[in-house]
Amino acid sequence: MTITTAIKQLKHSLPQDSWTDDIGLIAPYLREWRDRWQGDTPFLVLPKSTQEVIDCVNICQQQQASLCLQGGNTGLVGGQIPKSEILLSTKNLVNQRQQTPETLTVEAGQTLTQIHSLAAKENKIFPLSLASEGSATIGGLCSTNAGGIHVVRYGSMRQLVSGLEVVLADGSIVNTLNPLKKDNTGYALTDNFIGAEGTLGVITAASLKLFPKPTHTNTLFVAISKPQKAIELYFTLKNTFPTELSAIELIPELAIAWVLKLTNQLSRPFKENHPWYLLIEFESFNLESNLKIEECFNSFLQRKVVLDVVMANSLRQAQQLRSIRESISASQKKIGQSIKHDISVPVEKVASFIQLASKAVIEYIPNCRPLAFGHIGDGNIHFNVMQPIELSASKYLSHWETMNIIVHDIVVSLGGSISAEHGIGILKKAELVSRYPNKVKHMLRLKNAFDPNNLFNPRLLF
Ligand SMILES: Cc1cc2nc3c(=O)[nH]c(=O)nc-3n(C[C@H](O)[C@H](O)[C@H](O)COP(=O)(O)OP(=O)(O)OC[C@H]3O[C@@H](n4cnc5c(N)ncnc54)[C@H](O)[C@@H]3O)c2cc1C
Repeated sequence: MTITTAIKQLKHSLPQDSWTDDIGLIAPYLREWRDRWQGDTPFLVLPKSTQEVIDCVNICQQQQASLCLQGGNTGLVGGQIPKSEILLSTKNLVNQRQQTPETLTVEAGQTLTQIHSLAAKENKIFPLSLASEGSATIGGLCSTNAGGIHVVRYGSMRQLVSGLEVVLADGSIVNTLNPLKKDNTGYALTDNFIGAEGTLGVITAASLKLFPKPTHTNTLFVAISKPQKAIELYFTLKNTFPTELSAIELIPELAIAWVLKLTNQLSRPFKENHPWYLLIEFESFNLESNLKIEECFNSFLQRKVVLDVVMANSLRQAQQLRSIRESISASQKKIGQSIKHDISVPVEKVASFIQLASKAVIEYIPNCRPLAFGHIGDGNIHFNVMQPIELSASKYLSHWETMNIIVHDIVVSLGGSISAEHGIGILKKAELVSRYPNKVKHMLRLKNAFDPNNLFNPRLLF
């Protein structure tokens, strides 16, 4: 019983265009976005149907050859990168299964951008929105419980999925795909697989909730003096526009400077520089809300609650403002190496977190450059600490684990989470096990129930 026998049987059982052992064709699947992990695998399976996934799983189970699962390969914690396991990519599962007035059922390989287009054809929206949407797939988005900028209004993937089709390790199927809004027939099986990072089964299809397309969207860029102002503004806006506020993203000046340094497509939103900014979006269905938003920000400006405001007056300008936020990760990558933290704390503690964590990392590595940005309405900050100019990249990155512990100690002391949206993968598994032993004990019970032989993603989480 070996991986070699499994590969032989897979070649025999699956159509020839559903697998490859060509090293050149496999290579792009083995490198990930941050260049942190380099994978290896002798064999890539690219099933085109749920039945082909089942055939693959049955053979691998029988031969005890474990599988690494991959969708669009945009994950940021290393979970989709194989280390000698057979790689199963669901990106060729691309059929649309069913459409109802309020749901869309698609196979796991559809990208988020494709879902946006399908929804638009029905004059609807699927509100999940993130910078990787051109490549990230429904299978990966479900498996990581992806978030993005619209969680503040619509929730993350868990709230946006009404059912799944999942192939389990014994080759059986869990099918909860249905458009029902109410279904209390026992355990909510769907929830087990969302955020499980592919450790419990292969997601092959999902029913996604569609929402009415707003008639008015307001996109604003707002200058503020400090993160505490952002929190106050968030609570005020949430009270005043409880259903309209759809995004509120914190951005420091340093991030804007880096974004603009690396592109000539975008321009500075204000003539003057300010210490911090917010990208804010509202969605509404009536002109009155639209006018109320304008009045509200004029009053903020007069009362000096905010330092400056730009309100997009065209779709193009709105997209430009949004692109500044979406380009932060890519621009950082070009500037140098950074040690990253994807954390959340209660919203009212975000400013304390930024202050404490910035002080702590500078004490640890003088001249490092903390960059805190992200989804302030969810208390979710991407706290990326850039290398000091005088330190080599490799020397700086050798501090990754220690710096993570310093920052995560602060997060935990504030009642937060060490992984807000990217998951655990390989990157944070040591910390998951040491910081959450009781949770891990219960998670292992689930893992043993669904995948007792550790067939799927065997190196993840635990
Ligand atoms: C520039 C950039 C911006 C990003 N912004 C955000 C953001 O704002 N919010 C956010 O939440 N994430 C963000 N991400 C992270 C990433 O896009 C998400 O985690 C996304 O959900 C991964 O989808 P994917 O299809 O690429 O999955 P992959 O990267 O291929 O896989 C991710 C995980 O899911 C598992 N998996 C994949 N497909 C399946 C399947 N069919 N069945 C079971 N398990 C599966 C893999 O084994 C792995 O553990 C960003 C990434 C980049 C590069």
